[in-house]
Amino acid sequence: MSMSLDPQQNRRLLERLRQECGLDLLGVADLRGEAQALAGLPDRTRALHPFAVVIAQRVSRAVLATLEDGPNLLYFHHYRQLNAHLDRAATVMAAEIERHGAAALPIPASQIVDWERMAGQVSHRALARLAGLGWRGRHNLLVTPQLGAQVRLATVLTDLPLPADHPVEGGCGSCRRCVASCPAGAIGDSESAFDLAACYRKLDEFRRGRRVPQHICGMCVAACAGGMGEAVWER
Ligand code: SF4
Ligand code: SF4
Repeated sequence: MSMSLDPQQNRRLLERLRQECGLDLLGVADLRGEAQALAGLPDRTRALHPFAVVIAQRVSRAVLATLEDGPNLLYFHHYRQLNAHLDRAATVMAAEIERHGAAALPIPASQIVDWERMAGQVSHRALARLAGLGWRGRHNLLVTPQLGAQVRLATVLTDLPLPADHPVEGGCGSCRRCVASCPAGAIGDSESAFDLAACYRKLDEFRRGRRVPQHICGMCVAACAGGMGEAVWER
């Protein structure tokens, strides 16, 4: 099949795939002029994929409600299932985009390549912000208006012509819910005050002490519920 040059038609294809894959949110970022967003990838790969399709899947509120003072095995299992679901959805979307004659590179939901910075091949949250899905919150995660930070993300890079979304207006406003929830005291007043090292130390402690074989926590995610619960941000 030859590639459609009609961006709106291609966007409708993505929307159909979003629904078929059971995903909650989808946004498109135009990466031309945003070299930093794909800094972890080879130059050639970056040049071939001018757009990022960012997909998001909700974290179960019921699972989050079981967290008391850190991660548990139920949350760990759910976290892995979400990542697997997103990876499968990104694979399905990429294959369908290829069938339509365009390049498509799925990027895993959770594949850390730099442990010191807890960073992956791309920053899904930075791409999600560019794709209009939300803003970076005080806890250093993406905050979506619909679901707060209770989402997991994956990305498909592509050269399919698409209408791009734009970063949304929004921010944490007077909300401080995640600040009080953090067992490491890592969350400050602004995004730039976030103490990544303190967060990582706590995650490492959880991993060793609770036999949760991954660096996860969930406490600030549970606190940041977005518009489905109490409205916690100001516009
Ligand atoms: S809980 Fe409130 S302060 Fe923290 S990131 Fe979410 S909206 Fe921002
Ligand atoms: S993941 Fe846990 S330790 Fe890290 S900022 Fe969130 S609540 Fe704090």
